Amino acid sequence: MKCELISVGTELLVGDTLNTNVQFLSRELSLLGIRVLFHTTVGDNPKRLEEAVRIAFNRSDLIISTGGLGPTQDDLTKEVIAAIFKRKLIQDTKTKDDLLKYFKNREYVMTPNNLKQTFIPENAEILFNPCGTAPGLLIKEQGRMIIMLPGPPREMTRVFEDAVLPIITQDNNQLVLSRYYNLSDIGESAAEDRLLDLINTQVNPTIATYAKMGEVLIRITANGTDENEMNALLDRYEAIMLERFADNIFAFSKESLQETVCKLLLEKNISLATAESCSGGLIAAQLTQYPGISKVFGMGLVTYSNEAKMSLLGVKKETLDIYGAVSAETATEMCENLQKLSQARLAISVTGIAGPDGGSDHKPVGLVYIGVAFDKQTDIYFYHFNGDRKVVQQKTANKVFHLIRKTIVDKSK
Ligand code: AMP
Ligand code: MG
Repeated sequence: MKCELISVGTELLVGDTLNTNVQFLSRELSLLGIRVLFHTTVGDNPKRLEEAVRIAFNRSDLIISTGGLGPTQDDLTKEVIAAIFKRKLIQDTKTKDDLLKYFKNREYVMTPNNLKQTFIPENAEILFNPCGTAPGLLIKEQGRMIIMLPGPPREMTRVFEDAVLPIITQDNNQLVLSRYYNLSDIGESAAEDRLLDLINTQVNPTIATYAKMGEVLIRITANGTDENEMNALLDRYEAIMLERFADNIFAFSKESLQETVCKLLLEKNISLATAESCSGGLIAAQLTQYPGISKVFGMGLVTYSNEAKMSLLGVKKETLDIYGAVSAETATEMCENLQKLSQARLAISVTGIAGPDGGSDHKPVGLVYIGVAFDKQTDIYFYHFNGDRKVVQQKTANKVFHLIRKTIVDKSK
């Protein structure tokens, strides 16, 4: 099957938005064995969009567009495509009900232009969008398929996974089964290196790695017609994954490290407190994104100055004078005193040099100490992170989440 992707949006052409949709879709489709032969990007201009769709229709069996389905005047994809194939736009009552519900649930006032999204080309299939207001659409025409997806990446990926994947795979008369492994404390290249023998010879299953800061997601996808056979194949690969990444796998899903750690803390009912210096509250902010975390996370201090470390955490002046704020000794006092102060079972401290200033030969930018006091034992870790200020802070937070998980898995019964 020959496929063409059409990205619609002037913001993509002028460089305001990075076209991440095209990368996601190309990767997903290639893994399914669908040949993506053209990427076209076109602005919010009806004439040029029409031209792009006509060209694509002449050379491709599957056309997937993203963007231009929203409520505003410049969103034209559906209108242009309906006109090309001479289909009327008809209001769909189910889509209208969904839209009204969407606004009611969020207590937003719906402006009238939103109703535009409830008009659907005649005989189009509606691809429900659980994350937004514009549904995806599918039209079949002369043995070809035209799929329109919303532009916001979060909505696009969800509609693709929920609605498009089943249609495409069914159309190919093939089953597709995927398993996910999310790893921490390893870089993408190191992860890939450990899988090189399998990647280099991959046919079925296929292996894809996706890197996010601090996490590497590996997806193994089997194609076939017999579900049992495919599962047996995936089981064999799972054994290899467990053998090669025993210390790194934190989730058998796309779940983030932060989510996994929050779940683990709640499940084991382990109380946590944090005292942050160079990460400035980032760790507390990431923890508090998780609903219900207040049951175990009661205190997150930002002790940025020496005065705050002394007055709030009782770090001794001599410790700061002799060893400095960025030292194993300070990290130890921070987390041990925090543990007493908060009565938490697990207390974390962070002190480091995020840069760009403040480094020295002895203590370079990127040097970070992390203290982990769990029950009666304290462990101090130190790292040299590369990158600018923001990257050092983010890497620090990721490492803390990794260490929390490791501590709980290794030490809590
Ligand atoms: P639209 O559906 O065209 O109104 O798009 C809504 C928003 O989705 C845009 O403002 C962009 O921020 C984002 N978006 C649209 N297309 C893409 C794309 N190809 N890659 C990444 N983001 C996109
Ligand atoms: Mg747009």
